[in-house]
Amino acid sequence: MAFLKSCSCFCTNSHGDIDSSNKVYFCLDCDSTMCNSCKTAHERIATLTTHSLINYEEMNSFPTTLLMQAIECHQHHGENREFYCSDHCISFCFTCFLQDHRKCEHSERIDKIANDLNTSVRLEEIINRIEKQQITLKTMHDHKHSNLQALKEERPKLEEEMSAFIEKISSHVLSVIDETGKLLNTEINALEEDMQDIERNIENLERQKKDINKVSTACSYSKTFLFLRETENMLSQNEEKFNNMKSDCNLVKLIVYVSDNMETLLKKITNVTINRTPMNIPSSSNAMIQSAAK
Ligand SMILES: [Zn+2]
Ligand SMILES: [Zn+2]
Ligand SMILES: [Zn+2]
Ligand SMILES: [Zn+2]
Repeated sequence: MAFLKSCSCFCTNSHGDIDSSNKVYFCLDCDSTMCNSCKTAHERIATLTTHSLINYEEMNSFPTTLLMQAIECHQHHGENREFYCSDHCISFCFTCFLQDHRKCEHSERIDKIANDLNTSVRLEEIINRIEKQQITLKTMHDHKHSNLQALKEERPKLEEEMSAFIEKISSHVLSVIDETGKLLNTEINALEEDMQDIERNIENLERQKKDINKVSTACSYSKTFLFLRETENMLSQNEEKFNNMKSDCNLVKLIVYVSDNMETLLKKITNVTINRTPMNIPSSSNAMIQSAAK
């Protein structure tokens, strides 16, 4: 784009420097800036009447690139599209016309058909289409926004529920551990008591041995006889008593019991079903996008 220093169209700086930018114009066809007087001169030349003039200030905001893209032939760089073929529904340059569309029945110069076309109706139609797309996007945006809001509101609730669940599980785990610990303590205590009891009995038997010797040395046969009878009775009682004391702590049974407890707990956790009332989130936004794309 020409760098604005002075009028560059018709007068070669004979009007002096540019003083006011709102009096400077740019011709998109000549690709030149021009002062007010040059613009007037430009407008008088019949062959230039179709040229597009814009205020110089507009140059940066004007959709020049898109316009050039629309004008230039896609097949031939630097050539402008001058024809439209309604048989092929495309516009193209003169070279294209000669090459491909000379025999087409409805191949015409654009300046001819563009005049027939009701530009204002077309313009309105296209603006309507743009606005329709805008509305679709706005609706989509609103939808996603409410989705986001709902999700943000739901998040702390979900997190709270999850930590409550975890707390419940860990308290359950702790109770199983506690129960198992108590059971093990009971078994340990029982074993220790049994051992003490056995030790006492061993001592008793040792004393009885000595007692028999003492009695048989010091007492008469009949006294010794009766004492031996009494000792025999006690020994018979012992046999029954000691038989009862034989029963061991069943270690295998204990381990199985603890494992069963753990397994039950795990099964309980995996079988947990959580009944949720549907969240306040609007129905699937994906469905929305699909319907918008149609
Ligand atoms: Zn021009
Ligand atoms: Zn000028
Ligand atoms: Zn072409
Ligand atoms: Zn054609």
